[in-house]
Amino acid sequence: MQTEDEYAYCLELLRADGGLMARAPVVPDWQPACDWARLVALRQDRTGASTLGGSIKVRPVWDAAAGEPYVSSFEVAASGSGGAGQASDIPINYLYRYAQRAGSDLVDRGELEAGDTFLYRVLAFPAGASPAGNSTRPRFDVEEVEPALILKEGSLQQYLERSVAMGHVHGDDFPVVIRKEVVIETAMLMRRAGARETGGVLLGHLRRDPDIPEIFADVIAQVPARLAESSLARLSFTGEAWADIHAAIAERGQGETILGWWHTHPVRHWRASAERVEQEAAELANRRGDFFSADDCALHRTVFPAAYSVGMVVSDLPTDSGSWQINWSLFGWRRGIIEPRGYYMTHERDEAVATAGKSTGGHNDQTG
Ligand SMILES: [Zn+2]
Repeated sequence: MQTEDEYAYCLELLRADGGLMARAPVVPDWQPACDWARLVALRQDRTGASTLGGSIKVRPVWDAAAGEPYVSSFEVAASGSGGAGQASDIPINYLYRYAQRAGSDLVDRGELEAGDTFLYRVLAFPAGASPAGNSTRPRFDVEEVEPALILKEGSLQQYLERSVAMGHVHGDDFPVVIRKEVVIETAMLMRRAGARETGGVLLGHLRRDPDIPEIFADVIAQVPARLAESSLARLSFTGEAWADIHAAIAERGQGETILGWWHTHPVRHWRASAERVEQEAAELANRRGDFFSADDCALHRTVFPAAYSVGMVVSDLPTDSGSWQINWSLFGWRRGIIEPRGYYMTHERDEAVATAGKSTGGHNDQTG
């Protein structure tokens, strides 16, 4: 599948008083937005497709007040078997991190003080007419081969009847159901790790409920990973960790999909570590651990870019009485941006979920 960028984009960075500071050309990576549009189209597909042919187009939506070339949002349209004509609206803050980067360039050049607030606007020009000088920029392929999703059938209603909603479930998000055992295991592993951050991957199946239609994630298990910490602030999945994970999937014999990852924020230990507190000062200002740090976002973006991938943060959360409890929060892709999101946790064990299934099978996947 190819995406051609028919527009060249640039950012205008403005002082808080509206004065123009700089124009910076940007070449947005449209992959997350395109993946989102593709997943939206597949969720609505009534033909049973697990992959979309055709192309994806990104086009700017002009600002109603300022008009062209000012952009108010982006429209990403996937044309495919069942999803022809479906368009997703991608908000302007899709380019937020590009604006941040342009802002730090200004700081480096001494034109902006670190910490100063600035505003940004997005401008688009038909490719070839860019004032930024990159007029010969060629079309580029966002993706050459789109792997098909492995979809099993499942009744979303049967899952939801046995689940409780956790966090704010956003109407745009595809449903994610996490088995309670997975959640409990992560808490045990967090306690065992003490002051160390720990984590792993989330395994399960993508399921299609043809009656709605809808696609949802059924998170069945977690596999702890030997995460490398190159510094206190950055977790990474090493080659060893992936070898462990793939061995665990093979051993389970259920053909599960890696649906995302989880890791811990042992905030009560961080508070004892001056270095860590300094590094995470901004996020820890309110003493809560239920955030995705800039490093978490970077890892999610590079290692878990699929539109269905989620990241669970298991964190210490202070209570009003001064004690601590454990909190689970989920993050995932919405309109190509990593956002906090809700999920459903089963409140019964596997066996109870299995009675709703159509077939019998392995212990961990009796609904499939
Ligand atoms: Zn983190």
